[in-house]
Amino acid sequence: MPRREFFCGTDPYNEAMFSCYKKNVMLLNVPSIIAKKKKEKITDVDFRKIYKIPIVFHIVYNKDEENIEKTQVLKQVESLNKDFRNKNLDNSLFSQYRREKKLSTDTRIEFFLAEKDPKGNRTEGITRKYTKRKSFKPFKDSGNIPLKKQPVKSSENNIGTDAWDTTKYLNVWICKLDQIGGYAQYPPDKHPSEDAFATDGIVVDYTCIGKGGTAKFPHDEGRTLTHEIGHWLGLYHLWGPDEGGCYGDDEMSDIPPQRGAQVDCPKGNGEYSKDQACEYGQPLVLNFMDYWNDCCKLMFTKCQAKAMRGCLTSSRKKLVKM
Ligand SMILES: [Zn+2]
Repeated sequence: MPRREFFCGTDPYNEAMFSCYKKNVMLLNVPSIIAKKKKEKITDVDFRKIYKIPIVFHIVYNKDEENIEKTQVLKQVESLNKDFRNKNLDNSLFSQYRREKKLSTDTRIEFFLAEKDPKGNRTEGITRKYTKRKSFKPFKDSGNIPLKKQPVKSSENNIGTDAWDTTKYLNVWICKLDQIGGYAQYPPDKHPSEDAFATDGIVVDYTCIGKGGTAKFPHDEGRTLTHEIGHWLGLYHLWGPDEGGCYGDDEMSDIPPQRGAQVDCPKGNGEYSKDQACEYGQPLVLNFMDYWNDCCKLMFTKCQAKAMRGCLTSSRKKLVKM
């Protein structure tokens, strides 16, 4: 079976948004959050409270099989809670990579299906919508201009589903995406434009969500969404927000520099590949913010956990009840 290449659209998507909206006040503040935290050596982050984030899943389907079952969505939420609470330590790969085991951290962030909709009515946290559109993409084929209102995120022309208040819910759209596993919108600046509010959230392909059902190897353990939530809470890929090379960095002091994406699975037996190494240190393996197969994405580091918690006390603070 040919390998299904994972491709995350977060950086090209945000770059397109940024170049389009910077005159309209939307400025991505990820670098500023991280730079600030780095300056403070991220020591001021409090881990006592468990943050609980309500999610709404908007299933937008054309073919019946894209209208995934609730059990698959529940499996996804279960797997997010395992990943963010560092409950993968029994995985045998950790006995082969002790450095990674030592660095892996409980973020003390949890997720649950929204119980009330924006009007205060009871909900199961899942919306379903038939669309005549066969597939979606985050940006246009040519030019660096995003679709202003991305069809999947808008009920205009009866194609997609409008976001629920993006300051109070994590909105996740599930649909058929063109050649992409998923993409997220980075956290907003202090004064995001209305368009930025309307598009905030994550889109995941219906074959990369949850477990069982339509989830297909190697993206079949719900970790596309773990990775995208990392971005949504301000994390970069381990090689930084560029397309690769040793100049960019993810700004995390407990993660060695890395040239580009690592794929498939690590070699095992504690061995590292030199392919993506920069001058100092071997790149981490098993990290969620890389391109490993789902079965080999297992951990966030302490600095990543701090950066995400920092985001939940600043630009995304309305998401969690204080
Ligand atoms: Zn990504």
